[in-house]
Amino acid sequence: MNARSYQELLNSKHRLAILLFLLMNIASSLFTLLMPLRNTPAITPPLFGIPLFCLAALLFTLRSPGNYIKRLEYFSGVLGLLWAGHIYMKSQYLLPNVQNYLIISLFSIFFISAITLTDNVIAFCLHAVPSALIILLLDNQHNTLRILFISVLPIIAFSIHHLMLKRSESFTYALVARLYEERDKLSNLSMLDPLTGLYNRRGLENKLTLLTTPQSGLHFVLLLDIDRFKAYNDHYGHTMGDQALVKVACAIRDAVRSRDIVVRYGGEEFLVLLTNVSKEYAAQQAEQIRLRVQALAIPHGFNQLSATYVTLSAGISPLEQLDVDSAIRAADSALYQAKNNGRNSVRLATARP
Ligand code: GH3
Ligand code: MG
Ligand code: MG
Repeated sequence: MNARSYQELLNSKHRLAILLFLLMNIASSLFTLLMPLRNTPAITPPLFGIPLFCLAALLFTLRSPGNYIKRLEYFSGVLGLLWAGHIYMKSQYLLPNVQNYLIISLFSIFFISAITLTDNVIAFCLHAVPSALIILLLDNQHNTLRILFISVLPIIAFSIHHLMLKRSESFTYALVARLYEERDKLSNLSMLDPLTGLYNRRGLENKLTLLTTPQSGLHFVLLLDIDRFKAYNDHYGHTMGDQALVKVACAIRDAVRSRDIVVRYGGEEFLVLLTNVSKEYAAQQAEQIRLRVQALAIPHGFNQLSATYVTLSAGISPLEQLDVDSAIRAADSALYQAKNNGRNSVRLATARP
């Protein structure tokens, strides 16, 4: 799961909240239709409209995704008005003894809102407040305090609850985003060689998954190995050896285009993947790297005025049908020939049958 899928998780939670809200409204309206209070006619146009509106809203929500928070607020507004309309019309049948009915209705409407709209205080108000106002109006100051208490208390409680929820949601979201940022950073770092900053083998594998067949020319694999590096280490020490590796890595990186992939393939062995180039260009690049490395005057560790020198040998092979293993094997054979040929030279792989 990443930060985006966390957002998707929240989205699906909001979608479920809408479905629950609509189902509760359907259940409540059907119950009111089937169990009319004191045998008065139960069917008022708004009450009839509630299950119909809910069904349409249910189908719409199931079929088309969108901003579920806004949608819930819109549905709550419409249903809040329908419930208020129903309470008003129904109360006309019950006059003058309407007080009990009003209190029961107020409880019912706040009951549905409390169960399904705790996460969204705006939707909560849109759903419950129209009925509360109508009830307050119809009550004729019989139960004003009671009505205000039943209405205002949950609104205050849910506002506080809503604030706490928002805080913890944004904290979790920021935490998930940071975790995945850190993971990406670590994953990028694990693809880099710490000494030279070039890609390591894992980085190469990752880049290879993105490689596509050449649009023009060919792809080429260059395998480059520093000559007699063991002797260099033995002579100047391992620290100087490391420094030489860094300088050679920079020289290779500078010699090729930024889109080419440069890898520290082994201890003193490098791989370059040249994409969409000709054979001549690949050979020319390998030669240029060889010359650059040969010209590198690597300062001596104890005596900065004196310089040390290294050379490298290179094997080149075309990358055919994106078969990297075969291309590396062929480049390695060519490299072996370059070594046998006295080192500090470039060899092209012989064409495969
Ligand atoms: P050749 O011309 O045939 O390639 O000879 P070579 O001495 O370069 O080849 P060999 O494979 O015998 O030795 C490679 C040497 O590279 C041995 C090792 O000490 C050195 N080496 C490999 N990795 C590192 C490293 O990270 N730092 C240092 N300083 N030396 C390294
Ligand atoms: Mg070597
Ligand atoms: Mg080697």
